[in-house]
Amino acid sequence: LFITLEGGEGVGKSTQLRLLRDALQSHGYRVLATREPGGSAGAEDLRQLLLFGKNPLSLRAEILTHFAARFDHVDTVIRPALAEGQIVLCDRFTDSTMAYQGYGRAEGQPAILDLIAALQAQLGLMPDMTFLLQAPREITRQRLAVRGVPTDRYEKADEAFHARIAAGFMAIADQQPGRVKCITTANHSQETVSSLIMKEILPRLPHV
Ligand code: C5P
Repeated sequence: LFITLEGGEGVGKSTQLRLLRDALQSHGYRVLATREPGGSAGAEDLRQLLLFGKNPLSLRAEILTHFAARFDHVDTVIRPALAEGQIVLCDRFTDSTMAYQGYGRAEGQPAILDLIAALQAQLGLMPDMTFLLQAPREITRQRLAVRGVPTDRYEKADEAFHARIAAGFMAIADQQPGRVKCITTANHSQETVSSLIMKEILPRLPHV
């Protein structure tokens, strides 16, 4: 079972990933918790380049680099873990590339959305379930302010960019309602959000 968490910055993906991992482990499942960009040694090197590289990349080069990292992550970490029966939880996956590069940077240009879809098809691994965490921008901005100064190049981006990303995630959820479940984290405790997610996952779990 391959489960991804998606959403903009400050929506609580990493916290939920941790709570979910703990909950599944306490049910007796073997769980691999991982993240993108990164998640394998080679992909973590590419993450450094993507987030903190000295020079910007052209949009298509950026997309290919995200996918280079993703192929390494899938080939060396995710597929082997799934093959040995682990549940894989991943913080971000291709939906983030669609939202950030496709809808954010490319403003939904069809040629770019097609490029991302084609690379995803080559990858040949889709999440079984995706949880799209959502919260109003005012709330995520406050959460990020508490967390500290933004450090990578994306977190400095402007409000219109963040609005396009949120709209992009919504478009993906509308297109694939069977896979993508939307969950708001705004008015709920972390524990409430986590049990909402667990309730969706439980019927899909194999018997231990
Ligand atoms: O999930 P996390 O906050 O660690 O993501 C790291 C950074 O990478 C974020 O600033 C996010 O906006 C950015 N990112 C991106 N394009 C992706 C995935 C992540 O710009 N496809």
